[in-house]
Amino acid sequence: MKILVTGGTGFIGSHTVVELLETGHDVVIVDNLSNSNACVLNRIFEITGKNVEFYNIDIRNYDDMNEVFKNHVFDCCIHFAGLKAVGESVLNPILYYDNNVVGTLNLLKIMNKYNCKNIIFSSSATVYGVPEKMPITEDCKIGKGTNPYGYTKIMIEQILSDLYKSNNRWNIVLLRYFNPVGAHKSSKIGENPNGIPNNLMPYITQVAVGKRECLNIFGNDYETPDGTCVRDYIHVVDLARGHVCALKNIVENKGLNIYNLGTGNGCSVLDVVKTFEKATGIKIPYKFAPRREGDVTINYADATKAKQELGWVAENNLEDMCLDSWNWQKNNPNGYE
Ligand code: NAD
Ligand code: UDP
Repeated sequence: MKILVTGGTGFIGSHTVVELLETGHDVVIVDNLSNSNACVLNRIFEITGKNVEFYNIDIRNYDDMNEVFKNHVFDCCIHFAGLKAVGESVLNPILYYDNNVVGTLNLLKIMNKYNCKNIIFSSSATVYGVPEKMPITEDCKIGKGTNPYGYTKIMIEQILSDLYKSNNRWNIVLLRYFNPVGAHKSSKIGENPNGIPNNLMPYITQVAVGKRECLNIFGNDYETPDGTCVRDYIHVVDLARGHVCALKNIVENKGLNIYNLGTGNGCSVLDVVKTFEKATGIKIPYKFAPRREGDVTINYADATKAKQELGWVAENNLEDMCLDSWNWQKNNPNGYE
């Protein structure tokens, strides 16, 4: 199939492009490089031996997007393009609603115009807000976000389900990711945050490589076995494979479908630190700091639906995730620079 990948030079997008190419799909990437680097394209070539057509454009630009659709007939769009920093979204909500929601609306207008009606959207476990039960199933209530970023995901899910209700020739898959970490086994692509990392794993790898002194663990007084928050970390290559499975499914199992992509295992912050130390042999100095606003205590997936309907399960364990994150960081201490 010929696939448009928006945000395809980003962390999850680039890993998905590799899996798509390796399963024989044709890929065109649209990305404005607002949070990624064009070097990723060379790295994708080094891994797969395949070149990908790339457009350095903003999904909000109708004319530029129109040009892309004039040049290609797509079977499906996998839509990753979006801003994702929770704290930044609180400080600059207009930017987030404009980039993520307006950008998606623009993409949908163009897809509609060119009769490309298959879309896989990068949603997030954040749509569950404070989850009503654990593990989280797809039928849990959504709709109470904790920040503007989360609300962009809730709004886009709403837009996509209204679109489907209006015209059931649309085939829509909403993938709700849990906590993506890890990197490609080749160490050629990985997560490349700007400035001080917000997320746990890149912070740990930057401590390990000597760029940061000490990890701050946000809260040790939660109601969990060791007092630190519990999350469902998932290897980015497993996540990428989930998109390939969803793509196969979108043509067979039509309609609007929602899947959690997680491992189903909850790990605490201290579990991650200890597993990282064991996998790499590197000690991670840490100290306990106050709770971070907006963090939920426990969050992990019931991923049974993805297993039953997509035939997908996560294969990598936490040790694999730590080791691959570390190998990426060690071999690319300054990311793609
Ligand atoms: P990322 O920032 O690495 O990738 C997003 C890509 O989109 C970047 O390359 C960026 O340059 C591009 N982009 C942003 N706005 C654009 C625009 N207007 N036009 C064109 N390109 C644009 O992030 P990621 O971690 O790969 O996340 C991909 C998607 O998955 C995002 O939608 C994100 O919200 C979602 N998601 C991520 C996580 C996570 O923890 N990484 C969890 C849940 C959901
Ligand atoms: N965390 C931490 N120190 C950090 C970054 C994150 O203790 O420097 C904790 C955070 O409070 C949460 C967990 O690690 O409990 C995962 O946070 P992350 O930002 O990676 O993902 P989130 O679940 O918030 O999307």
